[in-house]
Amino acid sequence: MYKILKTDGRAKRAEFTTVHGTVQTPVFMNVGTVAAIKGAVATTDLQQIGTQIELSNTYHLHVRPGDKIIKQLGGLHKFMNWNKPILTDSGGFQVFSLAGLRKIKEEGVTFQSHIDGHKIFMGPEESMQIQSNLGSTIAMAFDECAPAKADRKYIQNSVDRTYRWLERCKKEMARLNSLPDTVNPDQMLFGIDQGGVFNDIRIDHAKRISELDLDGYAVGGLAVGETHEEMYDVLDNVVPYLPKDKPTYLMGVGTPANILEAVDRGIDFFDCVYPSRNGRHGHVYTKFGKINLFNAKYETDTAPIEEGCGCPCCQNYSRAYVRHLLKAKEMLGMRLCVLHNLYYYNHLMTDIRAAIEEGRYAGFKEEALYQMKTYDKQ
Ligand SMILES: [Zn+2]
Repeated sequence: MYKILKTDGRAKRAEFTTVHGTVQTPVFMNVGTVAAIKGAVATTDLQQIGTQIELSNTYHLHVRPGDKIIKQLGGLHKFMNWNKPILTDSGGFQVFSLAGLRKIKEEGVTFQSHIDGHKIFMGPEESMQIQSNLGSTIAMAFDECAPAKADRKYIQNSVDRTYRWLERCKKEMARLNSLPDTVNPDQMLFGIDQGGVFNDIRIDHAKRISELDLDGYAVGGLAVGETHEEMYDVLDNVVPYLPKDKPTYLMGVGTPANILEAVDRGIDFFDCVYPSRNGRHGHVYTKFGKINLFNAKYETDTAPIEEGCGCPCCQNYSRAYVRHLLKAKEMLGMRLCVLHNLYYYNHLMTDIRAAIEEGRYAGFKEEALYQMKTYDKQ
């Protein structure tokens, strides 16, 4: 159940209640692709860094260890020992971006596994079956994430097919949820708006999927090569056509600045690999901007990554120490940076929620965006 607690301009402060607990939005989902956050971060760590909801990837878990094995072990929550909400993507994005040779038909997509090259078929029903075996809290509809540079005709055909796939996803999920041995009979389904940078196609698609009365709605196919301005323009145009009484999710986004702008355009859910990926490379976030710990000037810096940060890294270690670990290629260096970055993202969302509640979001956003440029100016 989705309940808006406060609005401030177009920004929304809401609660989304699920069978695995209530999510306070706007929220950043911490990405655990193969049921682990890359950088040796465990679900027990997530409790300490303010993670509300974790995201795992259907395609990766289907290929390895296999969703049937996870179901046999009691589902993904039990497997990774995480009792809060989990969102699984549909596999669509990986099928279209990662897998080898693929063939798209009305029924679905045939492609090669990126692990061993074996042939896999995935359509809407298969994606729902895999996500049902995983037993995630929220399942995403199977869609085509069309190439960023695709022409209008390609996008229109793709969106029409994605709509037909969504109807099949909804039907299949209702069937799976009613089976006696299903892992999570309350599994929810989010639909995905597509249409590239063609606002009229996206608006038409948004209207059509809104009629299906799904549990939530995502804007997909962004952050794939378009400019930030194009992305914000799509949000300005499309979000008003998505149901007001359902959560909205901007898939795969983004930088702290992107999140501040998208919240201002009515988005509730975010996910992105940036904090973990950048952390593994020694790039860490602070309210004054991102710093690269490999930079020589941190060699004797006894300050924490960010003064006042409550994360397990900043509470205990200096920039100099973490830099040394990274240089020595000690796994602990990556782990500490990833913990800090996720803590930073999760607490940015806490601050965003507080600003909306107090009706000062516009000023908060301006100030945060201004501060983030501090290190660039030095
Ligand atoms: Zn920290």
